[in-house]
Amino acid sequence: MTFPEARRAYYIVAAMIIALVLGSLIGYVGGKQVQDLRILGDIFLRILRTIIPLLIFFTVGYATASFADLRRLGRLLILVLIIFIVTSALAASWGVLAGLIFRPGEGVGLKPPAEYTPPKPATWRDLVLSFFSLDFAELLSVGGALKLIVFTLIFGLAVALLGDAGAPIRSFLEAGSKVFIKIVSLIMYYAPIAVFGYSAWLIGVYGPEIVKGYVKLVAASYTFTLFHFIVIYGLIVWLGGLNPLRYYREQLEPFLVAFTTRSSAATLPVNMRAAERMGIPRDVYNMTLPIGATVNMDGTALYQALSAVFVAQLFGIALGLDKLLLLVLAAILGSIATAAIPGGGLIMLAFVLSTVGLPLEGIAIILAVDPILDAIRTAINVSGDNASSTLVTRIIYGRLSSPS
Ligand code: ASP
Repeated sequence: MTFPEARRAYYIVAAMIIALVLGSLIGYVGGKQVQDLRILGDIFLRILRTIIPLLIFFTVGYATASFADLRRLGRLLILVLIIFIVTSALAASWGVLAGLIFRPGEGVGLKPPAEYTPPKPATWRDLVLSFFSLDFAELLSVGGALKLIVFTLIFGLAVALLGDAGAPIRSFLEAGSKVFIKIVSLIMYYAPIAVFGYSAWLIGVYGPEIVKGYVKLVAASYTFTLFHFIVIYGLIVWLGGLNPLRYYREQLEPFLVAFTTRSSAATLPVNMRAAERMGIPRDVYNMTLPIGATVNMDGTALYQALSAVFVAQLFGIALGLDKLLLLVLAAILGSIATAAIPGGGLIMLAFVLSTVGLPLEGIAIILAVDPILDAIRTAINVSGDNASSTLVTRIIYGRLSSPS
């Protein structure tokens, strides 16, 4: 994302805030009479649902296909992936915990949409098989996203293993992922209208109860995300041989850039500067940070897990232990598949909700406060990449180089 684009993203956020206020006012004044404005949000939701399968296919496919190019660096990659997955799993668990403690969606009493049928409780067999599709067509439905990721990983691996013969397909995947990221940024121009329609409908039909829900959701998200940053990353950098206080200080600059641009990709150059100051060797951070910016999003994993619990509470849908475990897994995968752009995590929330069997209408409800949640999750997404890089350096090189 370039700076003019970042500025445009600001305008969209500003427009979304105005839309939220206007829509809420209209909902407050008009009550149930304005409920048909909901259609403006439904349009947004339908477009999102349509693009999800191809967005996953191109972004994950391209990441995998270019990944295995780095085969010589296998040891480093495996190590960094293990650290990324462990920290994302922790973050997703905090998300579930935050939802269960703060209970942001309780008491609102939304009704699930008419076509919604509660899924049957999953058995272990279902859980294992939920990674593999019965036939190709299933991969193209929103509910088949988990299966699509598995298929795409195999596809990307095959492309990578073909080497030069696979190069045209790799370029195709690269171009396709750019196209879809562009589509997402185009759709975001419509987002303020969707926010307007949905907030008018929500406040009109459900009144201020939902506002309380939003406040609790934001509080839950900030509390647990900052906890992850201070405690978990503090611990990781300490294990990596860096004084946590020094880490917080050097990380502040990328933290703020990520907080305001809401894009891990845009923050990459600033994050690299911080890595240099922390004494992480260039050959380590040149690899860990770009990969981390694409696949390691702890803030997003936390947000997606928390949002799913929020949506379940909004609609009064109980989540058993099996569903919560599936949710943690889905949030890890969802955060990996999330594009490093503003609002990327919201799009992939559709994957998480459908994997756990929750109504996708929840996305539209979260949309209204998503920029506030996006700021903190992006800041943590980039901070995690540097924290993990210190530990990787310690394990591979024994210690960090003397910080500049
Ligand atoms: N904005 C986030 C990032 O760039 C992704 C997300 O929306 O979760 O890291």
